[in-house]
Order: sequence, then C-alpha cells, then structure tokens
Amino acid sequence: MSTRIGFRWLRAGHCRHPECIVQRGGRCRVVDYPSLVGLLHHPTRGPMLFDTGHHERFLEATQPFPERLYRWVTPVGLDDAPLRQQLADHGIGAHDIGHVFVSHLHADHIAGLRDFPKARLHAMRAEWDDMKRRGRIGALRHGFLRALMPADMEPRLQFAEDSARIDLHGALGDGPGMQAGFDLLGDGSMLGIPLPGHTAGQMGLAFETLGGRRVLLVADACWSLQALDLDQPPTWLATGIFADRRAYRDTFHQLQALRQSDRDLLMLPSHCGPSWEAIRHESL
Ligand SMILES: [Zn+2]
Repeated sequence: MSTRIGFRWLRAGHCRHPECIVQRGGRCRVVDYPSLVGLLHHPTRGPMLFDTGHHERFLEATQPFPERLYRWVTPVGLDDAPLRQQLADHGIGAHDIGHVFVSHLHADHIAGLRDFPKARLHAMRAEWDDMKRRGRIGALRHGFLRALMPADMEPRLQFAEDSARIDLHGALGDGPGMQAGFDLLGDGSMLGIPLPGHTAGQMGLAFETLGGRRVLLVADACWSLQALDLDQPPTWLATGIFADRRAYRDTFHQLQALRQSDRDLLMLPSHCGPSWEAIRHESL
C-alpha cells in the first residue's frame, strides 16, 4: 500500500439493541450502536466514502408493511447531522464524492447512498447477486431494502472480483479468506477484503493512512472490538438474518487471530462505539 489515504471516522445515526443479544455474555441493557462512515481522501482521486450510514430515507422505506418490521427490529436514531452536512463541514460537496466503497447492502450501511449520484460504487459481486436473487420478503428478511438503492445502482457498480488480486503475504494473518485483497482502484491504495458470513459478499477495506497507520475497516464482521477480545460473538437471535453462520464464525475467528497477532493494525468495526470515541476527533 504505497499511496497513503486521509481518514476520518464519522457517525451517521445509530441503532439500538439489547447488548445481551448483540454479544454473547453481554449485559441486559439497551445500547446505542453507531452507524459509522469512513471519510477517505485519496491524493489524486479526492474524497471517497466507506459506506454511507443511516439516513431519514430509512423511515420512508420502512413505512409500508412488511418493511415496517425492519424498524421495529432495529430501532434507529437519527440525532447526528446528516452525512451530507457533516461532509459540507469538511468543505466537501456530495458531488465531490467520486467513489463509495460499499461494505454490504444492509440498510444501515447504504441508507445515504442516493445522496451521492456521481460516485462509482465498489462492492462485491457476491453481495449484489445474493441480494438480487431474493424476492421482496426474502430481501427484507436478510436486511435489504431496495428502496434505498439508487435506481442506476447496477451500472454504477464496480465489482471487487473484477479487480486484480494482490497477495497479502500473510499481512492480514493466515486465515484462508484473507490471503489476498482486491486492488479496488488499481494503484494498490485501497484493498477490498472479503469478510463473508454476515452477508454473502461483505467486504472490508484495508489501507494506510497519511499518518502511517495501517487500517482495516471490518464492517459488521464483528460488532465491537470488545466482542472480539472477550470472544463474545452475537447470539443465535442476532445471527438469524446472517447469510451463513459458519462463514461468519470463521471470519470472526480470523479477525480475532489477526487482532492478537498484529496490535499495530487499527481494526475498526462499523458499529463499535468505544473505538469510534477513541478517534472521532482525529484525522489519521
Ligand atoms: Zn450494520
């Protein structure tokens, strides 16, 4: 990873869940899980995003039945400034965003996607194909809301699997799934890392920051670093919507091993409040 990337971790809404369901051994209290968005700055391609977080469009999309069930199961809070506003505070217009790296297609990661009509959308083909093959109920049951996806999403998608594979030579551990990354921009700066299980084609993102930190955004492969460190994966109730529980477990164990073997790697889950709090005011 030769080209270094500016990085800030932003919060765009949150979901509220009982900790004892999200995390085996968690306490019986309701916790706000932030929906986090990576604001990335590439030296020649400009500002880019990792996911787009939550958005009031979620409330419109979950107005009818049976979609309304989605908001009952995952109550959403929208008390942050909208992502567009947060970007404007950094001097970035929505049309300046040239690339959005979509970790997966769950509503809390793509609800804001329609705000960025100029962006090329990077995702895994495995994810898109899995969502597309499902009917309305099947899609809903697995956390997909098509109403949140831009009408022109398909032609704007660039599939990670079509990018060159870069051998990571064990840089992200020895697990079978993390031996190579997809060179999403063709310059080695942004590596898409397959993290299957939570959804069929979930993709993490590995890069090096301007300050020289190696970062791995792991999306929902785990919901907190504490869950990894205490070996407390989600309960069976929470994994009910997952695409493949066994693959999820394998990915979770790979991340655990990686975290133990590489303490310099900044691993960031998309809903981990404490790790967001630790760097929320930093440009890395
Ligand atoms: Zn999520």
